[in-house]
Amino acid sequence: MILADGVRAVFTDRIGGFSTGPYDSRNLGLGVGDASETVLRNRARTEAELGVEGAVYMRQIHSANVVEADGRTADVPDADAVLTDRPNLALAALGADCPAVLVADAGAGLVGAAHSGRAGTLLGVVPALVARLRDRGAGDLVAAVGPAICGRCYEVPESMRDTAPEPMRSTTSWGTPALDLRAAIAAQLDELGVKALHDDRCTLETPELYSYRRDGVTGRFAGYVWLSR
Ligand SMILES: [Zn+2]
Repeated sequence: MILADGVRAVFTDRIGGFSTGPYDSRNLGLGVGDASETVLRNRARTEAELGVEGAVYMRQIHSANVVEADGRTADVPDADAVLTDRPNLALAALGADCPAVLVADAGAGLVGAAHSGRAGTLLGVVPALVARLRDRGAGDLVAAVGPAICGRCYEVPESMRDTAPEPMRSTTSWGTPALDLRAAIAAQLDELGVKALHDDRCTLETPELYSYRRDGVTGRFAGYVWLSR
């Protein structure tokens, strides 16, 4: 999707990669049991198809850590949000139920990507990324929130639901306690004045997407964002 003039955002799916078995086939996540060389081939193919000069992947740890990528290293350790001002350098956030949140200010020439699962959303990784982008001069930000397990599927223990902030509390389609990550992230973005687009496919209900909750052993898809000029 075109997130703004001069900014591209893409959410990948399972299709068109080299991985086999439970990782079939475009698994972009290292460290999930798939062969590293196959994951790197999937990443290289995806980056070539996107037409970017490179991509940055985080070693995600369910934190609110934000780092700036300068394009000199391909990977960012121990973070769940990344930003850059480098054109044609894609930022990737990986997930298999947790949404990738992509943020941009085309006028300021800044983009960011966050992995905002349950822990990251509670810690405020998206607000932390927005704050860092604004520190760097961003004004009018737009966001794209990628596919995630939906509030009708993401069952959790009652105590976890009841201690979550109000917008995150939900009920499954079968009547048990649940969390709604998308609603919580939407509320965070709204409070910060960031206009948001949503790819509201549910990972668990969409066979073309990886879902950890559905499959356990599985791959990761990605949200990518980059300045295209
Ligand atoms: Zn669902």
